[in-house]
Amino acid sequence: SIPLSFFAGIGGASKAGVLVKGSNYLETLSQAKIVVFDKTGTLTQGVFEVNAIHHNEMDKRKLVEYAALAESASSHPISKSLQKAYGMEIDRSRVTDIQELSGNGVIATVDGHQVAAGNDKLMNRLGVQSIPCHSVGTIIHMAVDGKYAGHIVISDIVKPHSKEAIQALKSAGVRKTVMLTGDAQKVADSVASALGLDEVYSELLPADKVEKVEEMIQIKSEKEKLTFVGDGINDAPVLRRADIGIAMGAMGSDAAIEAADVILMDDDPMQISKAIKISRKCLGIVY
Ligand code: ADP
Ligand code: MG
Repeated sequence: SIPLSFFAGIGGASKAGVLVKGSNYLETLSQAKIVVFDKTGTLTQGVFEVNAIHHNEMDKRKLVEYAALAESASSHPISKSLQKAYGMEIDRSRVTDIQELSGNGVIATVDGHQVAAGNDKLMNRLGVQSIPCHSVGTIIHMAVDGKYAGHIVISDIVKPHSKEAIQALKSAGVRKTVMLTGDAQKVADSVASALGLDEVYSELLPADKVEKVEEMIQIKSEKEKLTFVGDGINDAPVLRRADIGIAMGAMGSDAAIEAADVILMDDDPMQISKAIKISRKCLGIVY
């Protein structure tokens, strides 16, 4: 039978901003030994600033305008940053045939021109040769009517408590911390080393993230539980696959909140070790 303390635990946890969808998840959470994070919006702020614009013949402003218009239907943090860089109201009647390719970017028709904005994978799909960029940052390559038009370099910063949060997990007995991201290797490696993460995997499509988590589940022992922490639309499948899925921030996407077992009201990564500690306390586990 389920001890009464389980229910008291769920109530207590919710007061701390940790919403647990069922008492069984408290037990799984208490055994978390591997914590896998999504990068954007989870360990980083998910607010990108435009650092540089490199263009071919196209005017710089026009490049940003086309990017913002093509991205106008996307809710990705990259899209929000490009909208902000453009700074003007979007006239949606100029944009048609919008396609968002998760982990790649977007393709849309803007003023009758085909505009693609995304990473190297997207350019490869379109058979467009991109010009290599050596800046550190997330590089948004652009193609207009199948021709390379330039790129916009954007960058995101780590959240103020991310490093402390990783250390707190270690102190709470978490054996391994991992980051999975669709972003470029250079960006991923610099975040991972700044935060002291044990492992990092980059340039992953949403399905690759699920596969990575599956691999990690297969090689660990049954009593060590793996938790995945994410907030994005693309994170739902991997949140479901983990032993325990944690969605961050009540601002997270509806799909992520629905797929998760635990929801953190706050987007402070310190909440993760706090949630683990609360679960142990409810179960009377002294760590
Ligand atoms: P993360 O794993 O960091 O959450 P995503 O899987 O959402 O990242 O995206 C991975 C990469 O795909 C981004 O770094 C970017 O290169 C590209 N990408 C995804 N969505 C967009 C978009 N709306 N516009 C441009 N590029 C995008
Ligand atoms: Mg994401």
